[in-house]
Amino acid sequence: MKNLKSYILLLVLSVMLTSCGQKKAETDNSHSNDSKEKKHEHVVINTPDDAVNELKNGNKRFVDGKLENTDYKEQVQATKEDQHPHSVILSCLDSRVPPEIVFDQGFGNIFVARVAGNIEDDNILGSLEFATKIKGSKLIVVLGHNKCGAVKGAVDNAELGNLTQLVNQIKPAITGDKSNPDKLLDETSRKNVKLTIENILKHSDVISGLVKEGKVKIVGAYYDLNTGRVEFMN
Ligand SMILES: [Zn+2]
Repeated sequence: MKNLKSYILLLVLSVMLTSCGQKKAETDNSHSNDSKEKKHEHVVINTPDDAVNELKNGNKRFVDGKLENTDYKEQVQATKEDQHPHSVILSCLDSRVPPEIVFDQGFGNIFVARVAGNIEDDNILGSLEFATKIKGSKLIVVLGHNKCGAVKGAVDNAELGNLTQLVNQIKPAITGDKSNPDKLLDETSRKNVKLTIENILKHSDVISGLVKEGKVKIVGAYYDLNTGRVEFMN
């Protein structure tokens, strides 16, 4: 009797597991069909404005939960010989602002330079010059964001090892009503983006030359941690 019960139990379990497996396979199938249908068609980027539009459209796909540029294994193969990213993003270190994802760009479409507080220095400038002058990127985006820890560090006079000199570089951007900490942080973060752009143009003849020739555009953008939306600043 005990053996019979065990046998029935095993039978029921095996039927359940098999049907689960089938369901899983069906789901996987529909996913792969979906991803085939939604596969991102690479748009041709000829101008800085095309690049801005591509990033705006990519961020819209991200906000809408309709990412298309996620066939990473294929992208690894497609980009293994060379790269021609249309844009270079100078972004904060913040783990919640990954540019490749928030702009739905996957592999090979954007260069990304990241440093806490999205500020420039000689190494960042060298990287931006490589991206634009050597590799032909048409757009530089300085991407700030709200609730930035590095900017807060500047406002709060944070001191720690090498971080002290980093936050000191953000201090010229401090602006706004000190009695309203949230607003102060937000306005300072936005001003910091603008100052970084000014400093890039001031400190790099290569980039300011490309901008004057109209070959490259440099724009500020601001990521909202609450919504995932990127606002392009003027
Ligand atoms: Zn930050």
